[in-house]
Amino acid sequence: MADYANSERLFKAAQELMPGGVNSPVRAWQAVGLSPRMIARGEGARVYDVDGNAYLDYVGSWGPLILGHAAPEVVAAVQEAAAKGTSFGATTPGEVELAQLLVDAVPGLNMVRLVNSGTEACMSALRLARGATGRPRVIKFDGCYHGHADSYLVAAGSGVLTQGIAGSPGVPQEVATLTLSLPYNDLEAVRQAVRRHPGEVAAIIVEPVAGNMGVVPPQPGFLAGLRQICDADGCLLIFDEVITGFRVAWGGAQALYGVTPDLTCLGKIMGGGLPVGAYGGRRDLLTQMAPSGPIYQAGTLSGNPVAVAAGLTTLKALQRPGVYESLEEKGAWLARELAQAAAQCRVPVTINRVGSMLTVFFTPGPVTNLDDAKQADLGRFRQFFQGMLAAGLYLPPSQFEAVFVSLAHGQEDLECTVAAAQKVLAGL
Ligand SMILES: *Cc1c(COP(=O)(O)O)cnc(C)c1O
Repeated sequence: MADYANSERLFKAAQELMPGGVNSPVRAWQAVGLSPRMIARGEGARVYDVDGNAYLDYVGSWGPLILGHAAPEVVAAVQEAAAKGTSFGATTPGEVELAQLLVDAVPGLNMVRLVNSGTEACMSALRLARGATGRPRVIKFDGCYHGHADSYLVAAGSGVLTQGIAGSPGVPQEVATLTLSLPYNDLEAVRQAVRRHPGEVAAIIVEPVAGNMGVVPPQPGFLAGLRQICDADGCLLIFDEVITGFRVAWGGAQALYGVTPDLTCLGKIMGGGLPVGAYGGRRDLLTQMAPSGPIYQAGTLSGNPVAVAAGLTTLKALQRPGVYESLEEKGAWLARELAQAAAQCRVPVTINRVGSMLTVFFTPGPVTNLDDAKQADLGRFRQFFQGMLAAGLYLPPSQFEAVFVSLAHGQEDLECTVAAAQKVLAGL
């Protein structure tokens, strides 16, 4: 029997000091009915808790760690950068190199600005869209998460879903009414909304593969349809690629699906596990940002040299040949074997996957939007999570999250995951 005494003691102390004992809500494990493990360290595909238990990790810091934990090259780059000074409040060579890499990789990026998180990237992209179009409204999709800025906390995906909070107190109604949240994959709803508010929609923002209601891929024609609607109306298309950027393909979902947005938000992988985000897009838009233009956005630690070093090193590792083929193979193998195990155990599931991100929904499906995702049997998910954890597998502690496979996950790791899943599913 594993021992969680240190985790429990520390979490108790944390609850006195931090709301819910955490610095980000989903870490509290409320949806799975357990107290969270306190993590002492990570290495490769594994994390180790403060009681010395090892887990094969499929959270990957919620997406960034595509190389696995403490990748030696990233650690070395961070150490080297830190030794040279951790922040200057002045432009450094690494920022230019990272910006060049991003612009070369992502089709829709002509210019970028670095920020410190995905939240900041999405918040700033919306300010730019509003400033450039002179329009107030934004269209988003139910179950998509774009960080916790006021304008986006309307039907906002995993954290909010898992907690059962609709929106959030503290968001003024006047702000919330400017956000229209529509069903994912429903072009007709978008057409109607744009028609109802002629000349008022600044932007349509979308996760080109949704990852925050569990993984929900775009249906054929959905992203291209959004592109057409934006072009016809004059509003801007924003792809929130904070998860999908450098995850589903080098160049992100826009490269994979061949649809180019006006603005792109990045984060997670491009920071290599350190706090980084970026937004960018068309040159005529980005030049409207201060100091070259009037729209204001700034950051004391933006483009931080240590974070940039981690990001650059991670992205360079992803440029090696065969990386995305390998991620695709691992993801495909895992999804196929899990589907087979569930079928053998007569547990109805729907597995949605794009590349190395996937979700096992405990519903016969299909899952194409938030309403479908909510059909999932959350009791079953909780049992599955608990069983897998007991077997040493650390899954995202919510049905409405993505499992992330990293390059550090070997075939043996995947095989022991499926073997454990077979046993757990058989007991449901
Ligand atoms: C994680 C996430 C964000 C927010 O990024 P933070 O770094 O957590 O602020 C925004 N958009 C999407 C799609 C995300 O998954």
